[in-house]
Amino acid sequence: MKIGFIGLGNMGGPMAANLARAGHQVTGFDLTAPCPDGVAGAARAQDAASGAEVVITMLPNGAILRDVAAQIIPVMAPGAVLCDCSTVDVESARAVAAQAEAAGLEALDAPVSGGVGGASAGTLTFMVGGSDLAFTTAQPLFAVMGQKAVHCGASGAGQAAKICNNMILGATMAVTCEAFALADKLGLDRARMFDVVSTSSGYSWSMNAYCPAPGVGPQSPADNDYKPGFAAELMLKDLRLSQQAAEAVDAATPMGARATELYTEFVERADGKGRDFSALLPHFSASGRG
Ligand code: NAD
Repeated sequence: MKIGFIGLGNMGGPMAANLARAGHQVTGFDLTAPCPDGVAGAARAQDAASGAEVVITMLPNGAILRDVAAQIIPVMAPGAVLCDCSTVDVESARAVAAQAEAAGLEALDAPVSGGVGGASAGTLTFMVGGSDLAFTTAQPLFAVMGQKAVHCGASGAGQAAKICNNMILGATMAVTCEAFALADKLGLDRARMFDVVSTSSGYSWSMNAYCPAPGVGPQSPADNDYKPGFAAELMLKDLRLSQQAAEAVDAATPMGARATELYTEFVERADGKGRDFSALLPHFSASGRG
């Protein structure tokens, strides 16, 4: 397939490289990041987009997505698919899809989970919103870049699934970290705590697969001095998107709101920036109740 790829950063670079390696004809554009091997470089976003059957965007936020979409929608081929894989607010996803559809294009919001490791290995999970036709067209590309693609519903449903998942993750990681900090002060050994909780009703992905306590459970960023992994500021970005969405539809999300406050405190007023999101554990250990 002829593919335009805009946003070749930590995630987009390896995703575009995997598509090229699978035999697709990929033309890429980024303001600063270099083009990976096998991807032809374009001088402007429009040059990467014109003539492509599918244009994939992998950008930092909704404002930049709207800006790039306004540049490329007018030059895209009729019937082509604009597939945004960035994590953005639901409103921007729906607005860009509406603009694309008004111009005779198909649109998908297809945010991912799996991180930079999943992008490189081609094992991402895609959560997809948009029409059946657009999903069917993009599916072979999802199969190259990932191991699973779930069609969640109409435009915006992919972003909705992503922020609901990550709101659960943020709140669950926070409470897992505070439980370890409490266990320490109660004199409960961390390995015993893991043995019990990971096989009891408190188990979760945060405890069982990504344990925030070093030397306990499977290898995780905690065992690598909390180098990310999934950086605390990215967790905060997704939590803020969940709260923005909750406010827009008047949904009660008190745990999500508290997790957002905790990660704001950690990233903006403590040493969380650039550390893995599970480093809330040493943060809580050092904090006490004050
Ligand atoms: P990144 O900052 O490494 O990459 C974004 C790229 O977009 C940069 O290279 C930047 O130069 C480029 N860019 C910005 N404005 C542009 C423009 N106008 N035109 C062209 N290129 C432009 O970020 P990333 O880690 O690759 O993340 C991309 C998206 O994926 C984000 O929305 C993020 O939330 C999401 N995401 C990231 C991860 C992760 O672990 N890094 C995991 C899941 C989802």
